[in-house]
This record gives sequence, structure tokens and C-alpha cells, in this order.
Amino acid sequence: AFEVQLGALPMPDGQTNVVLFLRDLTSARRLEAMRVDFVANASHELRTPLASLLGFIETLQGPARNDALARERFLVIMKTQAHRMARLVDDLLSLSRIELREHVAPTKAVDLARIARQMVETQGPLARERGVELTLETDGPHPVPGERDELLRVVENLVENAVKYGGSGGRVVVSVARVAEPVPRRAEVILAVRDQGPGIAPEHIPRLTERFYRVDVASSRDQGGTGLGLAIVKHIVNRHRGRLVIESTIGAGTTVRAFLPAFVAEPDEAAPAG
Ligand code: ADP
Repeated sequence: AFEVQLGALPMPDGQTNVVLFLRDLTSARRLEAMRVDFVANASHELRTPLASLLGFIETLQGPARNDALARERFLVIMKTQAHRMARLVDDLLSLSRIELREHVAPTKAVDLARIARQMVETQGPLARERGVELTLETDGPHPVPGERDELLRVVENLVENAVKYGGSGGRVVVSVARVAEPVPRRAEVILAVRDQGPGIAPEHIPRLTERFYRVDVASSRDQGGTGLGLAIVKHIVNRHRGRLVIESTIGAGTTVRAFLPAFVAEPDEAAPAG
């Protein structure tokens, strides 16, 4: 669909030219529809824990007023719901902040291998508690032009997913390496997170980075997921001018790879010209 507008353009010779403006509304409409969807989804996601909180408050003020045991139990549930809302609001804020900066690519060198190591060290004990062995494979340093906090977030979200959905008793491997045969001047670094979980059916894979898309809503909620993790990862990777590739085999596991441009030092300006 196009919006058509006629305009009059006075010319230097005193004549007037008529101009026809055509604006493509299809993409504008699609964006608008996506925005409306997003607001509706976000409201619904916030409404669910809020409704549960209100329900418990009413019960505590009424039937359970003098029941000390129920009070303790309800408070635990209420805290979980409040945390869930807080996490959702935090993720929404992260997403909008990253989107605002998406057109400005970071330029400072950041060692991706070091970031991965740091994340494996902090998340290792948590993974072990869930019966998952988390390890790192890298021959770094592997610098990329990047924003440290955002790259930490990428590794964190991917490792969290691998541990959450990878199932206990498995291994999760984080690796950082150079692409073996780069196109000249397009050297890339790959961050990969591999799990041995149940895998994801192919029809879901293209939709995983959409906001609030989950394969299994109940299991995501049980695990404290907001459905925004991979959307955040995708936007950060886009901002870093990289690409995200998700590969999965049912029954064998999932590998998520982020390909990021490697940091290439500018030629030394002080060096004599050859
Ligand atoms: P969530 O907060 O639900 O984890 P994400 O955006 O991080 O949201 O992931 C979206 C969905 O993709 C998850 O709900 C889950 O169904 C699926 N998923 C993500 N990572 C994995 C994985 N490593 N193995 C299996 N399923 C996964």
C-alpha cells in the first residue's frame, strides 16, 4: 500500500511543477503492528504476576488473616512473583536501551575470550548446582570492537539458556575462536555455546529471537524466563555488526553461535609511508 500526496513545487523560472509523493505504507504498517503487539504482550506478561500478587494480598487480608503458616508460604510465592516482574521490567529496559544505541557500532577493543572466561567462572557453580558441567574452550585473546557489558550479557543469556534447557547431567561448552578461513579483511571471532539438551524443533528456530517467543511457555516461566533473552542477544549482536546462528538437533542438543567482526588495529599512522 502506498500513500499518495500531490505537491506544488515553484520553479526559478516562475513556473510551477507538480510533484507526486509516494510513501510505502506496508513497512510502516508492519512496524506499527509489531509495536502494538509488543505492548500487548508486555502488558500481559506483567499482568499475570500482578494478578497473582493481588490475589494473595486479598487472601492474606481476609481468609488467611490469622494463619501464620499460610502467611509464610504465601510470602514466599509473592516474593517470587515480584522478582519475576522486576526481571521483566529490567529486560524491557535493557532491550529499549540497546535498540536506542543499535545504529552506533562499538569501536573499542574488548577481549571476548576473557569475557567468556569470566562468565564461565561466575556461572560455573550455579550450573554445577543444577547438575551441569560448564567449561570453556579458547586459545584467546580474541579482541572484537565491542561494549564489554553488552558482550557479557550475550554470554550470560546464552549460558543461562543452555543450563536451563540443556537438562541436568549434561555438559555446556562455551568456546571462543577465530574463524579459520576468513574472507580477507573480514576476520571474525565466533562465540559458541553448546549444550546436550533435548534440542529445538526446526520450525521454532527462526522465531526464537522474537520478543516473548517461547517453545514451551510453562517451562520458560518455571525457569524464571522472560522470553526476552534471545531478543536481547540478537540486538546486541546486530549492534556489534555480527550475526547469530542457532543450530539444533532433536535429542542431541543446541549450539548458538555469534559471529562478530574481529578487532583490526588501524595501520599505525606514525609509521613511514611505504
Ligand atoms: P526465556 O526467557 O524463555 O529463556 P529466551 O528468549 O532466552 O527466553 O529463549 C526463548 C525460548 O527458546 C525459550 O523459552 C526456550 O523455549 C528456547 N530455548 C532457548 N535456548 C534453548 C536451548 N539451549 N535449548 C532448548 N531451548 C532453548
